[in-house]
Amino acid sequence: MIQRVALVTGASSGIGKATTELLARNNYYVFAMGRRMERLEKMRSDRIEPIYLDVTDAEAIQASVDHIISTKGRIDVLVNNAGFGQLGAIECVSMEAAHKQFEVNVFGYARFMQAVLPYMREQRLGNIINISSILGKITIPGFGWYAASKHAIEALSEALRGEVLEFGINVVVIAPGLIKTEFATKEFELLDTVAHPPVYQKLITSLRQLLASEPKAPGPEIIAKAVLHAITTSVPPVRHALPADSKIAVIARWMLGDRIFAWAVRYKMRI
Ligand code: NDP
Repeated sequence: MIQRVALVTGASSGIGKATTELLARNNYYVFAMGRRMERLEKMRSDRIEPIYLDVTDAEAIQASVDHIISTKGRIDVLVNNAGFGQLGAIECVSMEAAHKQFEVNVFGYARFMQAVLPYMREQRLGNIINISSILGKITIPGFGWYAASKHAIEALSEALRGEVLEFGINVVVIAPGLIKTEFATKEFELLDTVAHPPVYQKLITSLRQLLASEPKAPGPEIIAKAVLHAITTSVPPVRHALPADSKIAVIARWMLGDRIFAWAVRYKMRI
C-alpha cells in the first residue's frame, strides 16, 4: 500500500500538533513544520519528520516542498494551520502588526498552496485543508485584523476550490470555534502590546473575559479528527465548522441579519 504524505504547518503545538500525531497514527508520513524545533524534535518518529520553517520565508517554503518531493516523490495533503491572533481595536493596532498578521495567516497559507499545487496537479490528486476560524465568516469588535485575515482565507479557498477540482484536488475549509491551545495565551500577550487610550477600556475588559472562557473549550483533537475525516472520506466537506458554536454563529448572523446581529454582539460583549 502506498504511504500517503502530508505536510502540516504550525505543528509544534495545538491543532497542528494534534493533527500531525493523528495522521501519523493513521499511517501518513507527516512533515511537521514550525519554528520551535525543540518541540518538533520530541515528535520525531518513523512517520513524523520535523522541518524548521517560518511561514513568512518564501524560499524556505519552496525548499521544504522540494525536499518532500525529492525524498518521498509525492505530496498528498497540505494542512495550512500556522497562525496567530492579533487582537486590538482597529484604531490602535499598528500597520506593522496588521501586515504581520496577513504575512502569516494569509500569505503564509498562499505560499504553501502555490508551492504544492504543481505537484498535486501532476499527481491529479491532493487535499488542501485550510484552517480558518469561526471568525472566517463573522467578525466581532477587537478581532478585526484577525477576522480579516481569516475572511481572506475563506475567499481564497473558495476560489481555489473551483479552479482545481477538475485536477482531482479538494480544498476544504475547517473553521474552529474556541479551542483549548496556546492560541488564547498568545492573543493576550499581543493585546498587551497594543497601546489603547482609556476610552477603549470597556472593549479590552470584554476581550479579556471572552478569552478567559478558553479553559472550558474542547481540545485540539476534535479539529484533528475533522482533518482526518476530510482527507479520507469519499465526499469531502466544503466547509466544516466545529464545535457547535462555530456553526451556530454563522446561522445566527444569517437569521438575525447584519443590524440585529451587530447589536446582539455588542450586547453580549457589554460594549
Ligand atoms: P497555537 O498557538 O497552539 O499554534 C499555532 C502554531 O502556529 C504554532 O505551532 C506556531 O509554531 C505556528 N506559527 C505561528 N506563527 C508562525 C510562523 N511565522 N511560521 C511558522 N509557524 C508559525 O494555536 P492553535 O493550534 O489554536 O492555532 C492553529 C490554527 O487554528 C491557527 O490558524 C488559528 O488561527 C486557528 N484557530 C484557532 C482557534 C482556537 O481557539 N485555538 C479558533 C479558530 C481558529 P511555532 O511558534 O513553533 O512556529
